[in-house]
Amino acid sequence: MMCAMEAGKRRRSVLLIDHARKLAEKIRISGGGHCNFTNRHTKAENFLSGNPHFCRSALARFTPQDFIALIEKHRIRYHEKKLGQLFCDDSSQQIIDMLQHECAIAGVDWQMPSQVRHVEYVSADEETPYTKQKFILTTERNTITAGSLVIATGGLSIPQIGASALGYQIAHQFGIRVTPLRPGLVGLTFSAEDFIGFKNISGVALDAEVSCRGTSFHENILFTHRGLSGPAILQISSYWQPGEPLHINLLPQQNAQQIFLTYRQSTVTLPNLLARYLPKRFVQVWCSVMLAQLSVTEKPMNHYRNNELSHLADKLHDWQIVPSGTVGYKKAEVTLGGVNTHELSSKTMECKHIRGLYFIGEVVDVTGHLGGFNFQWAWSSGYAAGQVV
Ligand SMILES: Cc1cc2nc3c(=O)[nH]c(=O)nc-3n(C[C@H](O)[C@H](O)[C@H](O)COP(=O)(O)OP(=O)(O)OC[C@H]3O[C@@H](n4cnc5c(N)ncnc54)[C@H](O)[C@@H]3O)c2cc1C
Repeated sequence: MMCAMEAGKRRRSVLLIDHARKLAEKIRISGGGHCNFTNRHTKAENFLSGNPHFCRSALARFTPQDFIALIEKHRIRYHEKKLGQLFCDDSSQQIIDMLQHECAIAGVDWQMPSQVRHVEYVSADEETPYTKQKFILTTERNTITAGSLVIATGGLSIPQIGASALGYQIAHQFGIRVTPLRPGLVGLTFSAEDFIGFKNISGVALDAEVSCRGTSFHENILFTHRGLSGPAILQISSYWQPGEPLHINLLPQQNAQQIFLTYRQSTVTLPNLLARYLPKRFVQVWCSVMLAQLSVTEKPMNHYRNNELSHLADKLHDWQIVPSGTVGYKKAEVTLGGVNTHELSSKTMECKHIRGLYFIGEVVDVTGHLGGFNFQWAWSSGYAAGQVV
């Protein structure tokens, strides 16, 4: 819609085709129904991509402030929740209505629900001046001819609301490389053996710093029936690779050695001591797993050996646990990977080798962190293509 309305403002004749019955379902369900529509602190560093610089140009030309201006023009009330994340005060439906309204003013036509069956390309004739390339789309309803084709089919996450692989299939059809795809911003699962005890504390959340591959996120982690979720886990899931451990610092604000030293002569038990810093239900399970590893029974602090306390302090700051997988596309917020950015102009999103073909939004190998960055990429890349398409 962002691309369509911008192209429409330039008096281009625009037809927006979608196979879904309901418009922009991802916006509607986002941010718990309030749509985290941008992040004030958007920078290229908030995105994962085979080319980390690719997103810079589009983000610079349509910034979070530009989207905020649009929101304010439509008198949509919003607030900052934390870390620059902006949400609607009322409903994410307001964002959909706003975009739909802008499209209507710009004269955009709609065809939905409509399945695209086939895409054909007739390239410009080099010999004959003024002939232009054309795309011939066969849909379930009709045949459409257009000089430009913008693919904005998003990623594979949440297939139940319309996600499909069409964008990647079109890329393959045109010989455009697609980087490996996998779910991102997604909960992680653990084998029953590794997670023994923890599945009983589903619902418990704690503040932690989670690291993997040299990247760390300090936010909440949440225990679920199948594993771990919560903002810090969703963020790190985009960096995690199968087989690797997560490193969890359970006391990012404290020094465990120092705490143990302070209570070295105390008769308080380890779980009771740690329950002053961490949720009690978690502490009980964690201590029983760690003490079993040390073949030590629960005892007062003054009965531990120094090397046992040193080991436990290390584990509190670097609890390593290897996920068995993710909860998959059904629950993932995004798809990592996508149309290889080396195939596209970073200024216009047009394919370097297929004139008139554009890829924008999540279908491209640009994936944001949690916190409004993915929508900002959708707006910015859509705007970039909308200026030239
Ligand atoms: C539960 C959830 C919550 C999220 N919350 C946030 C948030 O708060 N903030 C944030 O920044 N990001 C959030 N995201 C991510 C964000 O929704 C996406 O990154 C963003 O919507 C991508 O925009 P897009 O236009 O590229 O693709 P989409 O919004 O996915 O739109 C793709 C469109 O293409 C259509 N389509 C797909 N296949 C076909 C086909 N074969 N034929 C025709 N049409 C097709 C779909 O029906 C859909 O309308 C969330 C994602 C999920 C799943």
